[in-house]
Amino acid sequence: MLVVKVGGSAGIDLAAVCDDVARHVLAGTRLILVHGGSHETNVVAEKLGVPPRFVTSVSGFQSRYTDRATLEIFEMVYCGKTNKAIVEMLQARGVNALGLSGLDGALLTGVRKGTLKVIEGGKRKLLRGDFTGKVERVNVALLDLLLAHGYTPVVTPPALSYEGEAMNVDGDRAAAVIAQQMKAECLVILSNVPGLLRDVHDEGSLIRTIPAAAVEDYMGVAQGRMRMKVLGASEAIAGGVGAVLFADARVPQPLTRALAGQGTKIA
Ligand code: ADP
Repeated sequence: MLVVKVGGSAGIDLAAVCDDVARHVLAGTRLILVHGGSHETNVVAEKLGVPPRFVTSVSGFQSRYTDRATLEIFEMVYCGKTNKAIVEMLQARGVNALGLSGLDGALLTGVRKGTLKVIEGGKRKLLRGDFTGKVERVNVALLDLLLAHGYTPVVTPPALSYEGEAMNVDGDRAAAVIAQQMKAECLVILSNVPGLLRDVHDEGSLIRTIPAAAVEDYMGVAQGRMRMKVLGASEAIAGGVGAVLFADARVPQPLTRALAGQGTKIA
């Protein structure tokens, strides 16, 4: 069982990812694909006149403030455009892909935050009306049912809160929870960088291996959104996933290369 997360940043070659996913699925690998779409969401939000508002939490994580209007744009892009584009590409490659958001069949459920504690202009602030949260439960039975019948699930945020509301969740951490609860041997996180870099501006500074016990020490190396990936990785490893790979999605055969050890391996 393999869980593959592909990001939505500039430069990612989704067609190459789908080629490679299809190759593995058609060879018999049980695989769940999780995707993002944050870059495209920003583009569409700007066009619709709802520019993204980024906030920094008191613990230093950057995230997007998600009011209801933003959540709806997010759903249009993730569940609509991006999810269907991936499903189409996989179908064209002979894979019976089935797109699902975390809402469908209560696939991903968890706690909604509602308020965000943020730092703005050096001051602490409470922002209300936020539709973000954290995935805690995965509908494993639904994924098993689909996989057993030959479907390849293509999963995207949002998730469902315990109160039944849609909420934006981090795709990397959602993939980590899916990998844990599906007892995946491996979680592969594909993005527009070769892996975890010591220096984000130097692609030659790739960190090749991180022992599982030391993963928290690497939190300081990652900046911005990469921190969520390292956090997700440490959660996945703590939850029993055998290995987490960070690898490049701008190259041909990104999954095969990742599995062959070309990115960062945490194990
Ligand atoms: P995706 O949309 O693919 O999930 P993100 O944009 O969320 O990707 O995260 C990947 C980005 O994280 C990279 O493009 C890079 O700019 C940034 N980043 C920050 N610190 C690091 C680091 N130490 N190593 C690699 N990437 C990093």
